[in-house]
Amino acid sequence: MEPATVVHLLYAVLLVAVSVQLSSFATSIYLHRSLAHRGLYLNPVVAFPMRVQLWLATGINPKEWVAVHRKHHRHTDVEGDPHSPVLEGLWQILFGNIYYYAREAHKKETVETFAPDVGNGWLDRHFFRYGLLGVFCGIAICMWLLGPVWGGIAFLVQAGTYIFFSAVVNGANHALGSRNFENTATNLQIVALLTAGEGLHNNHHAYPTSARFSIRRGEIDPSWIVVKILSWLRLARPLKLAPQLES
Ligand SMILES: [Zn+2]
Ligand SMILES: [Zn+2]
Repeated sequence: MEPATVVHLLYAVLLVAVSVQLSSFATSIYLHRSLAHRGLYLNPVVAFPMRVQLWLATGINPKEWVAVHRKHHRHTDVEGDPHSPVLEGLWQILFGNIYYYAREAHKKETVETFAPDVGNGWLDRHFFRYGLLGVFCGIAICMWLLGPVWGGIAFLVQAGTYIFFSAVVNGANHALGSRNFENTATNLQIVALLTAGEGLHNNHHAYPTSARFSIRRGEIDPSWIVVKILSWLRLARPLKLAPQLES
């Protein structure tokens, strides 16, 4: 392999890793804990770059994401759940989560019923609601950084990895792993380390509004570390916290 190709490959791998992690933290901290469940206050200085990251790297419409997610909590693993491996099958969710998500996100009734309070600001109506515009800007930035070929590949790989991580949380975390509480979700620490804490899903379903997903000694919630640092900087404030288990 030519030295120039190796350098491009290394930059592409770095861009993918950084983008996937930034998107994961933005999803867990901003979209999930703050916007969907209102368990965390975020200063706009922190929330805004998280919104931009999600818009550029994933094209997610926050209003739709929150609506689909709240509906998942309302009907967890029973009829009405948008993406349940119990209803649809684990493999279907692991490799088809994006289809199940999009099917629900495009239902006007779901969005109006479950997220009337979200995504109504000026920036939402003019920018963040238009996911494709964000994705085109994201592709352009990647191509500007790495050239058209490597930039295009890097964008696709980071988007694909993010989509797969989301599918793992929606699929594996309702099928495999351990439980602290009696609900159909599970904890998978390895998934939590890859997805900014989302893998502690059994804890989350027990206390959906908690800003902290770890609940007993030994559990690691990467987003909680970031939230603690942001709290020290007075850029975030947990509003609700689950009680910690003794053992
Ligand atoms: Zn769930
Ligand atoms: Zn949730």
